Amino acid sequence: MNIAETINQVRQTVKLWKGQGLTVGLVPTMGFLHEGHESLIRQSVKDNDRTVVSIFVNPMQFGKNEDLETYPRDFQRDSRICQEAGADLIFHPAPEEMYPPQFFTYTDMDTLTDGLCGSGRPGHFRGVCTVVGKLFHIAAPDRAYFGQKDAQQLAVIKKMVRDLNFDLEVVGCPTVREADGLAKSSRNSYLSEEERKQAPVLRQALSYAEAAVRAGETDVKTIRDEMIRMIETKPLARIEYIEFVDGETLQPVSRVEKPALAALAVRFGKTRLIDNCFFQ
Ligand code: AMP
Repeated sequence: MNIAETINQVRQTVKLWKGQGLTVGLVPTMGFLHEGHESLIRQSVKDNDRTVVSIFVNPMQFGKNEDLETYPRDFQRDSRICQEAGADLIFHPAPEEMYPPQFFTYTDMDTLTDGLCGSGRPGHFRGVCTVVGKLFHIAAPDRAYFGQKDAQQLAVIKKMVRDLNFDLEVVGCPTVREADGLAKSSRNSYLSEEERKQAPVLRQALSYAEAAVRAGETDVKTIRDEMIRMIETKPLARIEYIEFVDGETLQPVSRVEKPALAALAVRFGKTRLIDNCFFQ
């Protein structure tokens, strides 16, 4: 496995592979890898001849008062995980490599980024779209892999690929969880012992919603009120949002008509956790 720190190194390697008729998968990450990332890498290794993993804590997608400085990093460990999962190349650029001085061009999106995480994190998806668009141009993948854990991000990237005619397939991969249901996340490492004990309530509230819909309930207010009640039994949990939206347009719905997405963000102290489920 090779490690590239410059855009040119990635371009040269990918050019060589493409010259040999090989297919390329890309897995964009911010590092501090866990089994969720690993499942994306393994899927890419299965589907493609070569796999590039990018490890870049993208400053552009962090708000002013967010955790850019404290975001966990461990490149040695990440490299081992990539190697074991079968990746061929890690792209690990410095921020100046991706954003040299006088960087003026951005990729942004309407509508899909208005609600959910977009409303609490202004500018976040502009940062995501810009960096992912750049990575698509740099690594020129045949397929790119994203987790359903970040459902809005996945929908936004799929739309960007369609709208801007990127010649690649976006592959969504299932959310990998801890044994007690908590979605794996690099940010779980911020949780105190007590917060960690209470954090599975996100998944429990979503499981309740799934069961209610299975039992025939479609009224969002009824389901949502019970989810709020469940989460509020955990004294350290602060709900940022619980939203039910159309699975494609991400616009709020008052009845669960498929396809729909239930998504939530809950804070435990300084840690912001998200999770979601699809109804289809
Ligand atoms: P991040 O490093 O948090 O930016 O995540 C990089 C990619 O891994 C994104 O496409 C995420 O959706 C995906 N991912 C993060 N956590 C999980 C998880 N628990 N299960 C599956 N995919 C995940």
